[in-house]
Amino acid sequence: MATIREAREALKLYFGYEQFRPMQEQIIEGVLQGKDVVVLMPTGGGKSVCYQVPAVVQPGMCVVVSPLIALMKDQVEALLANGIPAAYINSSQSADQQYAIENQCLEGKLKLLYVSPEKLLSSGFLAFLRRVKLSLFAVDEAHCISSWGHDFRPEYTQLKALKQQFPDIPVIALTATADRLTQKDIQEQLYLRNPQVYLSSFDRPNINLMVKPGRDRFNKITDFLSRKPNQPGIIYCLSRKATESIADKLKRSGFNATYYHAGMSANARAKAQEEFLNDDVQIVCATIAFGMGIDKSNVRWVIHYNLPKNVEGYYQEIGRAGRDGAKSDALLFYSYADVMSMRSMLQDNQNETQTELQLVKLERMQQFAEAAACRRRILLQYFGETMSKDCGNCDICRNPPTRFDGTVIAQKALSAIARTQERANMSLLVDVLRGARNAQVLQSGFDKVKTYGAGHDISTLDWNRYLHQMLNEGLIEMAYDQGYTLKLTEQSKQVLFENRRVQLVKFEETKQEEQAVKAR
Ligand code: ADP
Ligand code: ZN
Repeated sequence: MATIREAREALKLYFGYEQFRPMQEQIIEGVLQGKDVVVLMPTGGGKSVCYQVPAVVQPGMCVVVSPLIALMKDQVEALLANGIPAAYINSSQSADQQYAIENQCLEGKLKLLYVSPEKLLSSGFLAFLRRVKLSLFAVDEAHCISSWGHDFRPEYTQLKALKQQFPDIPVIALTATADRLTQKDIQEQLYLRNPQVYLSSFDRPNINLMVKPGRDRFNKITDFLSRKPNQPGIIYCLSRKATESIADKLKRSGFNATYYHAGMSANARAKAQEEFLNDDVQIVCATIAFGMGIDKSNVRWVIHYNLPKNVEGYYQEIGRAGRDGAKSDALLFYSYADVMSMRSMLQDNQNETQTELQLVKLERMQQFAEAAACRRRILLQYFGETMSKDCGNCDICRNPPTRFDGTVIAQKALSAIARTQERANMSLLVDVLRGARNAQVLQSGFDKVKTYGAGHDISTLDWNRYLHQMLNEGLIEMAYDQGYTLKLTEQSKQVLFENRRVQLVKFEETKQEEQAVKAR
């Protein structure tokens, strides 16, 4: 068995780094002991080393499953440049090329082989791998396996074949984005045996989080940019057309801007990317296609022109700012009209279960934008991390809204959740709290519970907002996999039984906007 000392030597010899980052060392120790491991680490945290170093020091070959064919090539080239024999294989290559690589595997010449899930699961490939001496499977972008995640790829669910057919080969699953349910799904669906789970903090304290009303956003942007001369940044837009028109408007206002989207030719995209990397252009207006695999550490700000579809996407996109650790800004524009148009877009989706999930995720995103509690606290809570105090580096912390003591309201909601045995989703719970007499309430028998009607004096809209605030603060949880029912948490028990106080906020401004949109 290879030792951690050998791993450290390999890190220095092949990668030129003096030491492991704290989490890397523990992860690699687990892998070297043959354990299954789950790694949740933000982009830039150094996940690759966690399987590349074990691959180098162990006998046999590590198979890396990655959905991003475009990035495989870069990874392999970087490894080769470091003197590590590696290759990738996917269906874009000719039969001859694939055959040659397979031969290298059989001869034991490779330390790492990158494959797409399609290739891995294509006929005969697993049988072929049986003839190769293997050390490890690394499943990159592991959140793609979960239909509760934001980037579900059905072919990933077939990866359970790895453990079924190779029970003795350890698996390391890695992702930079997974809410709690997705984390659980990764372990279950890959059939991992008692996996060691490493959750590194998702906090990026150097990024200042801000949300502004969407009205007049272009002027707000030029205003913002005038305070950021020559500082590189990205403006994420919803449509391809918008990237072009906003870049154009910025140029006419005297800014050095370009655009990027998946509808452009490969050449044009490479050019835009290159210009941005070399600081020849300051601003890229882009769809979310931009940024994957781009290693630019001095991005100073990220603007979301429109509300992202979900918190996972938002977190990944703002994470492209401030990789160097220096002060950076994330500015999100929010308008209720955006939510409406996004909602109707999602409803066009054919798959009903996915639509429902996407709508719930959009609603969480909306509630983040509307939130009146420390934004970082909410963001981290979403990924299962509880902060002990507010961050001091978001608009809410800098300018806290007025709150009122909402302990009694929270207690009513929590006791309704308890008395309905955690079997009500948000709309049913609100009906129960408000004492509604509709079919759903009557059928479930929840009109008999003690808290039925205890919150009749609060409007449905306000109840929704209060419950979302409670979700945001981890006072309750929502089980996507159990009909979106609301569940109690450790923190809810403190409110119910230990006299913990809860502060709530009202949202007058958005309420007015919402009414205006509805009246149109
Ligand atoms: P991720 O896959 O988590 O996004 P990478 O594996 O691409 O992150 O690593 C991010 C950056 O950190 C890379 O430039 C990598 O070379 C660097 N890096 C990784 N591990 C170390 C280390 N132990 N010491 C110094 N730099 C490291
Ligand atoms: Zn804060």
